[in-house]
Amino acid sequence: MADDLLIYNGRIIAETHFLSSGYVYVRDGRIASVGEEWAGIKAARTIDAGEYLVSPGFIDMHTHGIGGLDFMESDVETIVRGLREYAGFGVTKVVGSTLSNPLERIIAQAGRFREAENVSEYGDILHGVHIEGPWLAPRCRGGHALEYLRVPEKEDVHRLLGEAGDVIKTVTFAPELPNSVWLTEQLSMRGIVGVMGHTEASFEEAERVIRAGARHVTHMYDATLGYKEDPDETLAMMPGMETAVLMSDQVSIELIGCPVHVPEPFFRFIDKVKPVNKKVIVTDSLVGTGKPEGTVLSDKDGRKVYVCLGVLRMISDDPEINGNLTGSAVTMNVALRRLRDYAGIPVQEAVRWGSINPATTLGIDGETGSIRVGKAADIVLMDDDFNVKTTLLKGRTVFETG
Ligand SMILES: [Zn+2]
Ligand SMILES: [Zn+2]
Repeated sequence: MADDLLIYNGRIIAETHFLSSGYVYVRDGRIASVGEEWAGIKAARTIDAGEYLVSPGFIDMHTHGIGGLDFMESDVETIVRGLREYAGFGVTKVVGSTLSNPLERIIAQAGRFREAENVSEYGDILHGVHIEGPWLAPRCRGGHALEYLRVPEKEDVHRLLGEAGDVIKTVTFAPELPNSVWLTEQLSMRGIVGVMGHTEASFEEAERVIRAGARHVTHMYDATLGYKEDPDETLAMMPGMETAVLMSDQVSIELIGCPVHVPEPFFRFIDKVKPVNKKVIVTDSLVGTGKPEGTVLSDKDGRKVYVCLGVLRMISDDPEINGNLTGSAVTMNVALRRLRDYAGIPVQEAVRWGSINPATTLGIDGETGSIRVGKAADIVLMDDDFNVKTTLLKGRTVFETG
């Protein structure tokens, strides 16, 4: 058959089993069989995995950019170039995140996503938009500009969903804001995942949006407030969103794979308390990610940052803010390596956090996210430390080390 591929002699992280020596056979871009005996299989293309791990491609459901790509600013051409860079780190699916901005800018940018998805070869990597802001809690805004924060007015929600609902996959909002239950219902009705984040919601406020369909948490432990002190009883703690999402087995939780944003014990904790398919690792990476240590970047307003040990830090004459953390510059393969180390779990378990689990939250687990017969051949060959050798997108080689 002309369009087929045999990857053999690899250690296969299949959906249900780990094969210490096996193969994956791909036909027409889909996984056609997986097993241990490849002697009788003939294919037009073959890859000797040479004992590399054969892993599902990584899915980053929260990232603002990489290299020269900024999902909030970039044109279609730059978006596509950036998608190619993601592939170099084993990523085969990305949900691009916007930032709090005037609605018309977010809608215009969503239009560029729509175009980029249709560009051949790398467009398939893009899986729509994650809207992060403007419906966030001012106190928990993190890197979002205060001037752009809003409550979800019905008119604005209708406008955003009416003009960009076809490319929006997830929306992060603070459940304590007015209209948030109604907003969640609007999202759920369209198959968009409602996501809690940048929030100081109470337990009850979080429960109400979970009932309306919210199913995920944006970068837990970063701009989320776990508990509040009871105003009437000194040191009596009141449960917040954290308790609600830890108690609900239907809600997945994402952690940024970065010890500066998320202290290490939280990786072990979430691994212990959440169901196996409800823990997700993301990068939340910004433009500049993947550039060498010390690279200096400046934005349109002339603000300067530099790459420092997987994060971006500010450069300023003002000693008050010089060196301040401005965002993550971690790549997906490094995030997964850290997860393995911090949570003390084997590589094939860590991989789930960055493949089948985000696919499940996004509702694309029937199409991608694991090595299973019938799914798209979105596959990564890597060593035990997540150093990527080859990335395949629907069976096509989209990255290979020299
Ligand atoms: Zn955020
Ligand atoms: Zn973000």
